[in-house]
This record gives sequence, C-alpha cells and structure tokens, in this order.
Amino acid sequence: MAGLIGIEEARGRVLGAVRALGAESVPLDQALGRVLAEEVRSQVHVPPFDSSAMDGFAVAPGAEGDLEVIGEARAGAPASTAVTPGAAVRISTGAAVPAGTGAVVPVERTEGDAATIAVPRSEPGANIRPRGDDITTGDLVTCSGQVLGPAALGVLASLGRSAAMCSTRPAVAILATGDELVEPGGELGPGQIWSSNPPALAGQATLAGAVVERIGRIPDDPDATRSALGRAAAAADVVVISGGVSVGPHDHVKGALAAIGAEEVFWGVALRPGKPTWFGTLTMAGRSVAVFGLPGNPVSSMVCFQLFVRPALRALQGADPDAERETAVLDEDITRNPRRDQAVRCRLTNAKDGLHATPTGPQGSHVLTSMLAADALALVEAGEGVARRGERVPVERVS
Ligand code: AMP
Ligand code: MG
Repeated sequence: MAGLIGIEEARGRVLGAVRALGAESVPLDQALGRVLAEEVRSQVHVPPFDSSAMDGFAVAPGAEGDLEVIGEARAGAPASTAVTPGAAVRISTGAAVPAGTGAVVPVERTEGDAATIAVPRSEPGANIRPRGDDITTGDLVTCSGQVLGPAALGVLASLGRSAAMCSTRPAVAILATGDELVEPGGELGPGQIWSSNPPALAGQATLAGAVVERIGRIPDDPDATRSALGRAAAAADVVVISGGVSVGPHDHVKGALAAIGAEEVFWGVALRPGKPTWFGTLTMAGRSVAVFGLPGNPVSSMVCFQLFVRPALRALQGADPDAERETAVLDEDITRNPRRDQAVRCRLTNAKDGLHATPTGPQGSHVLTSMLAADALALVEAGEGVARRGERVPVERVS
C-alpha cells in the first residue's frame, strides 16, 4: 500500500474500468427504477384526436342561443353525427369532438332539457384539447440513461408502449471473510461476532439496481478464499469481498485475487474510513468482472461501497454515477486529517441557503449506528486545521 490515491482518483479509475452491460426488454410493470437503455421518440400524437376537456355540449363555431341536441359523444364512443349550426352534441370529458365542432360549452353554462339547450357564445376552440397537445409524433420523450420513475412509465404507456429497453442489472456476489464471523441467528463462541457486512452491502447493491446472486462467508484461509473468489467471479459481474484485505498475517484476499489472475488497479485510498480498499478486474470466459476488496470494519465497507462500488454499478447500467453528489454547508467544525480525506456520516437538513450537514456523532469505523442516522457522507479534504462550520463541502447522499 505504497502511494495512496485520493477518492476522486480511485473513483475515476473504477469508472474507467467498467463498461455498460447490455439491454433487455422489460415490461412496464417491472420497470420502475430501472435505467432506460433507449431514446424514445413518439410515433404517435397524444392525445390521438381532438377531445373534450369538459362534460358539456359540442357546438358549431360562433354558436349562441337555442340549439337542438342531435346526438351524444362519450369517452370511447364517438358521435355518429357532425355538429351543424343550430345543433349541439352532448359530450363527455375525453370524448372525441365531432366533426364541425367549434367549441365545447361546459354543462354548467347551459340551460335547457334533453332536447333543446341555450348556450352563451364561446371562444373558438374553448374546452377542446387538440390532438398532439401533450406529445407530437417525433417528440423526444425519454433519454437513454434516465431512471424510470412513475411519470416516465405513465408517459411510455400513453404512447402505447407495454415494455421498455432497460440496461441489464449487474449480478453481484458478496463475500465476507473472517474466522470471527457467525451468521446472525447462530450462537456466538468466545471472540466471535455476528456478521453484519453482507446484509448491509447486499442492501446497498440492491438499491444500486444490482441483483445479488450469492452471499458467502469465508474463513481466514488462503485456499478457501481463492476457491470462493473463483466461484463468485464465475457467476457475477461484480464481486465484493469484505475484510482480509489489509496487511495482517491472516489477510488472504490480495494473495487469493492474484492467484486467480485478478489484475490490481489500485490498493489503498487516502480515505478515512476505507484506507485498505482494493480494486481490480478479472477476465472470466471473455467477461470482465470488477472485484472490490473492502475493509472489514462495518462502516468502512459501507462507505467504500457508496464511494466506489455504487458508481460502478450505476455505470454498468448506463446511469449517471455521480447523481448522488451535491454540496452542503457544514453545521459543525470538523478537524481535518493531515493525510486522508474523510467521509463523515451526516444528517442533511434544508435551509434558506441550501443543504446543511450535521455529523451523526462518533465516527469510529466500527460505529455502524453512525450510518444508521446518516443521509449523506460529507467529503472533507485532507489537510491541516479544521473544516469550519459554515464551509460548503461536497456530500454524497447515501441510499
Ligand atoms: P479486517 O478488515 O478483516 O481486518 O476486519 C476489520 C474489522 O472488521 C474487524 O474488527 C472484524 O472483526 C470486522 N469485520 C470484518 N468483517 C465483518 C463482518 N462481516 N461483519 C462485522 N464485522 C466485520
Ligand atoms: Mg479479518
């Protein structure tokens, strides 16, 4: 771990090593939150015909006074007659306006019975929604890389689309190393702890749009580490392994990765927490697999996932890897670390001058509850002295 690199350099190297996966057709009812992998231009007008914006009467241009009601246009059932001077067609909201219509008079503005009504004069086109008022043929409706929210799903459906081309979700394998680890629910022996990294990392992976294929626990043993990594890489686009990546006598991750042919892109980031982070790539049957060795401390692994793994998962889906970046005003002084950037767990609040960030309390890399209350990581640059209250710093929202 000779020359540590900064957060942005590390993130840049990760993003330089991953390329977007393919795309697949996804039914709209399963596409919420997926990343669109096509540019959608409308082939149709929405609405597809001139339609009524009100319940009322379709009347001829310039109509005023007494009119004979000669038919009805309902939503989904157009009138069989055209509107003529001296006549009106009863019409419902959303119904196609009959030929010859100049305006729709809302029912509240008419008087009369089923056969004859009296109407005031209307502006030309009043209460008519013209064909293509929302979307016109050829309009660019959604872009590639866009995350599909409820409105995008509705708009695509309004064009008649039942499915959308979405980026393939990356498959992620999550492995946890450590002789001290016991599955939650099991009995703790002396010196053992329950393994908390896999559920936290799997949650982060799922929220980043990935599919978690496999979760495993590995003892601190070189052979076991090597074979577990090999199996994981065969089934995943991204392998995340926590713990065992430092320089202790029982840390076997780097050796195992070298043994299975993974190429190191970096090891060591000038980051607190997260210094021993390792990243590299591995080619498996012609596929490139991104491998992250994250420090085992629960906060470190979550922070490094957020700063390095999540951007990779978003880039693999063709989405903006920096979408969670904003800036916020510090509400407390934070002592800088002379050599390492700090990712400080913060709560965000809105104020008149924008977002404010308040540290969530003790920031030890084992204090997982500091993540529990956090909305974001404030990125405080290395240096002497203090990042002062009132200073604006980059923040990354955590999901
Ligand atoms: P390591 O990176 O393997 O040296 O582990 C650093 C610290 O993180 C140690 O205190 C480990 O016990 C702890 N740790 C490692 N993996 C996990 C895990 N899956 N769950 C909770 N703590 C862990
Ligand atoms: Mg360990």
